[in-house]
Amino acid sequence: MKITKIEAFHLAIPFDHGAPPPSQGAGGVRTTMDSVYIRVDTDAGITGWGECFGFACCPVTHFAIQRVIAPMAVGRNCDDIGSLMFELHRRVQSSGRNGPLIFALSGLDIALWDVAGMARGEPIHKMLGSTGARTSVPAYASLMRLDTPENVTKVCGDVLARGYRAVKLHERTLETVAAARKALGDDTPLMLDTNCTWDLATSKRMAQEMAPYNLAWLEEPLFPPDDYKALANLRTATKTPIAAGENLGNLLDVERILDANAVDVVQPDPIKMGGITECWKALCMAQERGVQAEPHSPWYGPGLIAALHMIGAMEQECMAEFYYADLADWPLGEASIPRNGSLRIPDGPGLGVQVNEDVIAKYRVA
Ligand SMILES: [Mg+2]
Repeated sequence: MKITKIEAFHLAIPFDHGAPPPSQGAGGVRTTMDSVYIRVDTDAGITGWGECFGFACCPVTHFAIQRVIAPMAVGRNCDDIGSLMFELHRRVQSSGRNGPLIFALSGLDIALWDVAGMARGEPIHKMLGSTGARTSVPAYASLMRLDTPENVTKVCGDVLARGYRAVKLHERTLETVAAARKALGDDTPLMLDTNCTWDLATSKRMAQEMAPYNLAWLEEPLFPPDDYKALANLRTATKTPIAAGENLGNLLDVERILDANAVDVVQPDPIKMGGITECWKALCMAQERGVQAEPHSPWYGPGLIAALHMIGAMEQECMAEFYYADLADWPLGEASIPRNGSLRIPDGPGLGVQVNEDVIAKYRVA
């Protein structure tokens, strides 16, 4: 089977997260959820979909697909995904082992797994060795930045009412964490993600001050995210479990963070670190070493679905991250919407989802 066409789509979809639009750099606010999807057509008439990390760099990822990765991949045989991806990773290695070109390859890889699954008539979780016993995954509500205790209290109430049983904040203050703990009660797991905001000394102090709120994990407290030594230092200084991994660009980085004993929870992202091929290896590596793995998946497209298939095949129990919001339109329909705090693992061939091309066309950034 050969790849005949590759197209990238930068989407910007309005959303509602139950509070004022979250703050964003330079005093602005975020009003759309931006993402990059990739469609791969083949000469067998099978079309697969993938997703590439975009966020603030969507235009760059889009450009990387259209101008660099698509010309390399179109015309290539894709029966052996591992070999093709290995060769493409080699061809872009001089541009770095993390960043937009790797994000582009990640989405291509996911789309090729979708194609392969459809060709074989098998869901991806089965291709990864699942027995099919796990049919749904508990989703934790990953809340966007809310900034004030009042907003935190309100949205925590919303998510409990919708049936979520675990919550993650993206806050940076004691007051907001205290408000969440109060709103959720003592028994609901609460995580905090600071998105790499503090230095080591501040991280130690904050972890200590937040100890009464019993965080299930403290995620990416430190900048820069690849200072594994500092992270390991923090980990020995606090009882709070430390999570990180979404900013790792490849499997060797995952090995390094594990070798450094820097994390209790490792969070590789399929749309950043090489698609299902590489992320699955990372999850297996973590499991072999007895480290909790939680794939990073605050996405609504093929990236989220790829994570669900991998969770379906994992031996460990694991939650799925759902970036809590209602989109104005859902590109995958029901497949990416949690119900009563759970996401279903699709059982159709490939990713097992239908991409609504009308939604893609409506929210595509020109
Ligand atoms: Mg995070």
